[in-house]
Amino acid sequence: IPKVHIFGIPFSKMDMKDTVQYLTDRINAGQQTHVITANPIMVMSALESPSYKEMMLKSDIIVPDGAGIVWAAAKGGDPVAERVTGIELLHELFKVGEAHHWKVFLLGTTQEIIDAAAESLQMQYPQVRIVGSRNGYFNASQDDEVVAQIAELEPHLLFVARGADTQEPWIVKHRAALKAPLIMGVGGSFDVISG
Ligand code: UDP
Repeated sequence: IPKVHIFGIPFSKMDMKDTVQYLTDRINAGQQTHVITANPIMVMSALESPSYKEMMLKSDIIVPDGAGIVWAAAKGGDPVAERVTGIELLHELFKVGEAHHWKVFLLGTTQEIIDAAAESLQMQYPQVRIVGSRNGYFNASQDDEVVAQIAELEPHLLFVARGADTQEPWIVKHRAALKAPLIMGVGGSFDVISG
């Protein structure tokens, strides 16, 4: 993947189309991928906290979510192709998922919002199989139960919306047990999708 480093964080320079193709190939090959859609706030967190940075570097691809990242790359003379936001990437993956009848699990936000988001996405992408959803308000003692629930359903795509401080470290910690080929933190996207 062509990359540009911004404050030590390696950002993918690929446009949306190439990013979707890259991820689709990996999903179809059964290669697990943790995508981080990083904005300037996350870059700041990485600058302030070595452990957060180390955690970010364990992901497989970091895409430029946020105009500030696109700007910083251009300013440094090594531009990214375009901004790749989490919510747009989610929609693009659902589009591809229709053709492949992929299974999807949605994790995060409140039960009411996640149910509404699941209903909306199922209506927009009827060929995608939304196999489960669960709210994001659980504590570490419930992690194993949540992870087991997801792993058992064998989703191709797992979207996690629990806030950047929580969701990315949680994914890094549990990705092996979760098994899903594609895992991506999507922050507040379900709040938007649920309308
Ligand atoms: N959220 C969650 N569990 C938590 C904390 C947050 O499911 O323990 C959800 C919250 O409902 C929202 C999303 O995570 O839908 C993003 O939260 P927030 O905006 O606070 O985080 P940020 O995106 O600013 O990091």
